[in-house]
Order: sequence, then structure tokens, then C-alpha cells
Amino acid sequence: MKKIFKNCSLLLRKGKWDYEVLDKACLGIDGDTICFVGKESDVFERCEICSGDTDEAKCPASYDEIIDAEGALLMPGLVNAHGHAAMTLLRCVGGGLPLQRWLNDAIFPVEAVLTGEDVAAGTSLAILEMLAGGTTCFSEMYDFPWEDGEAIKKSGMKANLSKVGLCFDPEIDLNEWPRVRECIEHIDGFEDPRDRVRSEFCFHSEYLTTAPFVKRMAEEIKKRPEKNLNVHISETALEHEECIGRHGLTPIEYFDSFGLLSPRFTAAHCVWVSDGDLELMKEKGATLVHNPSSNMKLGSGFAPIAQALEMGVNVAIGTDGTASNDDLDMFEEMRLAALIHKGEENEPTLLSAGQILDMATVNGARALGRPDSGELAAGKKADIIALSLDAPHMQGPWSSGSSPLPIEAIVYAAHASDVVMTMVDGEILYDHGRYLTMDKDSVYRGFAEALRRIEERLREKA
Ligand SMILES: [Zn+2]
Repeated sequence: MKKIFKNCSLLLRKGKWDYEVLDKACLGIDGDTICFVGKESDVFERCEICSGDTDEAKCPASYDEIIDAEGALLMPGLVNAHGHAAMTLLRCVGGGLPLQRWLNDAIFPVEAVLTGEDVAAGTSLAILEMLAGGTTCFSEMYDFPWEDGEAIKKSGMKANLSKVGLCFDPEIDLNEWPRVRECIEHIDGFEDPRDRVRSEFCFHSEYLTTAPFVKRMAEEIKKRPEKNLNVHISETALEHEECIGRHGLTPIEYFDSFGLLSPRFTAAHCVWVSDGDLELMKEKGATLVHNPSSNMKLGSGFAPIAQALEMGVNVAIGTDGTASNDDLDMFEEMRLAALIHKGEENEPTLLSAGQILDMATVNGARALGRPDSGELAAGKKADIIALSLDAPHMQGPWSSGSSPLPIEAIVYAAHASDVVMTMVDGEILYDHGRYLTMDKDSVYRGFAEALRRIEERLREKA
């Protein structure tokens, strides 16, 4: 099946941190892959019916469907490179608490009573929010990955999905500790025939794992070099300092001491990483996932993002879970990432719009092991969103039509609510408020039922 979008603008990547908006453009898709990006006139004005053009992608007659995009901007789908989707069930819980108390007093007691069915319901709601906001691919670190994974598969979104690697007791016999077996079973057993949802490894963090557990899992991770590994790193100053106190190593150095840093390693937060940590991440090709809302809500601080990018570290963006954000709005994360470092360092030249767009798209795709996605170019996967440019906040000097939309408008002015279409692998999943793979009413019902079950269990425990 081939389709072509016409009457649109395209956000095209010219190189690292460098974008342009092409007006009066069209974009062709062959199955799950982009086969043409370029001027509309190259296709629709030269060849009403195929007139011997050697490039079939430029022939409108070669497409089964022509879609009028009504002046929208097509851009790559956003990649939410760190989060816990099912935490919609805990949205806004524990507001105002610092990280350790937030986890121990507010989050863990609820998570202790969750079931797989609850988690699937929470993730399904998160997917509705992400699809409507232009996210096409996300990282999901949570428990019950089997049920969670089925919910994601149904939606058609792309995701990297892990069961949380946890171990609290260094004396525990790891042969008896079920997490070891459960993580491996999920890694090896989880399958998606369309390869949109993939299993990956995860350690929650240095502080919620033990050295023998990390060592044991590292053996398994090294046997599967195609699998990603996802870890919370140096989110708070306390975590960073306590790790140094326990091991004489920063969290990044600690995980590297097990031979785990590689291009498959994604480190969420990294607020307190040292210069040496960033050097190590650059050298090993690891990714830093920036979570600006979450770091500010929990008062964790400001990650050295501008420095990491300048040093050549792959930096992506994530929302984190909805208890520490409290939404899954990647446009908001882009805007915050672009603003907060300028303010913190009194330096308006930090973090260009091009850097931010790279972080939210191509860098995230690379982090999640999907280098075939993240930009609008022939040969790349058709993971695409359309932004309506209709809203008052999207009007400006460019509205006369004499110049294209500046990319700053996407980073600073656009809202998630401007998204009118979300497509994954050439399949439209969300179109002008309609979900094509999910039933919104039944997702809402399932979510409310899950909350009632959770409330009842918490009452029984009290
Ligand atoms: Zn997290």
C-alpha cells in the first residue's frame, strides 16, 4: 500500500542540530517506509499520469491513496525516551515530597498492590495521551511487562519495555530471587511479530539493586548484545554521593565497572553526573535521557545538558512517569528543555531549537535502538506526526506566506494539542481526535475499574 501526503510542509533534518521547513511539499510512503520527501511540484505538476519518469516515487499514479494534509506540518514522531506509562494510575500522587520520601511514602505503597491488569489499564490510558500528543515511540520501565506489553502491542505504538531490575538484600541467594528469572524470561520470551515492541533490560538504579545482582544480570546482558539496558542514574545529589560512599565510584562509573556502558545503555536523569561521567558516556556511546519536568518537580536540579551535547554525548528527552511530571506531553518537555538551562546559566545561546528537535526525535530513536526512525527522509520508517498550523499561537511573521515556519515555533510555540495525526510504520493510529486502534471509552472504563480495585486493596491493607 502506497500513500502520499500533499498540501503540507515538512520538517527536514539537514544535519546535526540543523533543520529546515519545506513548504508546498509532499511525502510518499511505501508500506512502513518513507519513499519520497520533496516539493509537491516535483510530483503533482510534472506527471498527472506516469509519463516515463524513472523515479516511480515521483509519479502520483504509483500511489494508492493521496491524502490532502490541509496545510499541516509533517514532522518525525516524538520519542519519549524515559518513562513509566502505567503511572497514570498514580498521576499527581505525592506532590511536594522529595524523591526518597516520594518513593517510600507515596509511590511504593500503591505500587505494592498493583496487578498486571491494573498496569495494562494505566498504560492504555497513557497511550491515548501520547498518541494525541505526537509520541510514536516510548520507553517503558515497569512491572508486569507481559500485560503491559500486550496493551502496547494492541495500540500499534513502538516501545522498549523492561521489567524493573530490583534487589535489596546483598545476602540473598540469587538463584532463589525471582526477579532474576522473571527479567530473563521477559527478555527472551516477549515477542512482537511486527517488531514494534521490544523487551529490554533494566536496573531501577544503583540504590535499589545490589552488586551481586548487577553482576549476575550483567552476565545475561552480555550474552544478548542486541538488547538495550535502561537505568536511573544520578537523579539526586544524595543518590550520587551515597553511591560514591558505598563503592568509591559514581553511578555511571559503578555500572561501567560491570562492563555495561555501551550504545545500548540509556541513563535517565543524570542530573548530578561529573565531567568524568560524561566523558565515559561519550566514549562508550551511551545515551543521557533528560527529564526536565520530573527533575524540577522533585527538586532534583538541572542536568548538564548543554555540556553533554557539546561533548558529543547522545542526549534524548523523556517525560518520566505521570506521578513526577504530571503529564506525557513531549512538546512541553521540549520547551522546558530549551528554556530551563538558559535561565539557570544566564545564557540564552544554550540549547538551540535544532538541538532540542534532535533530542526529541533522532537521538531518542538512536537511544532506543531504532536508527531507522526519527527523521523524515526516504528509506526511514514512516513514524510521522502532523501538526495543524491553524491555532492563533502558530501565527507569526511567517503567516504572510513569504517565509517558512521557523523551527523555533515548533519548540517554543507549538502545543501537543496541535497534533492532528500520529502514524507508526505507515499506519495511522490517531487522526483528528479519533483513535483507530483503540476505543477511548473502554480504555477510560478499564482505567476507572483498575482504580477502584486499587482503592479496595489499599483499604484492606490499612
Ligand atoms: Zn524514571
